[in-house]
Amino acid sequence: MKTIGLIGGMSWESSAEYYRLINQGMKEHLGGHHNARSIMATVCFEEIKELQHAERWDELALRMQHAARQVEAGGADFVLLCTNTMHRVAPAIESVLTVPFVHIVDPTAQALRQAGVGRVGLLGTRFTMEQDFYRARMSKLHGIEVVVPNQADRDLVHQVIYDELCHGVVREEARADYQRVVAKLQEQGAGGVILGCTEITLLIGQDDVALPVFDTTALHAQSAVTLALSGADLT
Ligand code: GLU
Repeated sequence: MKTIGLIGGMSWESSAEYYRLINQGMKEHLGGHHNARSIMATVCFEEIKELQHAERWDELALRMQHAARQVEAGGADFVLLCTNTMHRVAPAIESVLTVPFVHIVDPTAQALRQAGVGRVGLLGTRFTMEQDFYRARMSKLHGIEVVVPNQADRDLVHQVIYDELCHGVVREEARADYQRVVAKLQEQGAGGVILGCTEITLLIGQDDVALPVFDTTALHAQSAVTLALSGADLT
C-alpha cells in the first residue's frame, strides 16, 4: 500500500472529510482494521484566506510548496491538495515534488466523462468559478464545458463557503439558496453540477438537487484510495 500525502487545513472541516473518506474507502477494500497510510501537512487557513483575498498567489504558492515538501519528506508516495481553490498554484506545487501530484480536476473529469456529461455547472469559491485555472483544465485537457452562476449567485456561493461552511456551519437557508443556484445552472444547459469546493459536500448532496452531483472531495479521496492500492507506476 502506498502512502497518501495530503495538504490540508483549507479548511480543516473538509480535510477531516478527506481523512474519513480515505480511511473508510481503504477499509471497504481491505476489511478488518485496515486504514490508509497517510501523512497530512496542515496550514493555517486564517493566513491562507487573507492571502487569497489579497490575491497574493506568489506567496500562496510558496506556502503550498513548503507543505508539499513536508508531506514528501514525510514519506508520501503521491500528493493531494485538499482544496479546489489552491489548485490555482498547482504548477508551482508540482515543480517541487518528485512524487506525483493528483490534480483534483482529473478524477472529477473522469467521473463526468463516465457519466456522459459534456457541459457541467460549477460551484466553488469566486476564485475557482471566475479564474481560468480550473475551467481551462476541464475544457482543454478533458473537453468538458463549464458553466458558472451569475455574479450575484457566485457572490452568495462564495460567502457561504468562507463565512459558514469553513466554520462547520450548515444552515437550511443556505441549502435552499444553493438548490436555487443549481436549478438555474440546469436551465443554462448543465447536465451535472461539480461541488467544486471541498466543503460544499457538507451542505448539499445528490438527495438535495435534481442534477447529477460530482463531489470533488469524494472523487479526489476515492482516487487516492485507488492509487494507494495500485501497483501501477504513478509518474
Ligand atoms: N476548500 C475550498 C475549496 O475547495 C475553499 C477553501 C480554500 O480557499 O481553499 O476551494
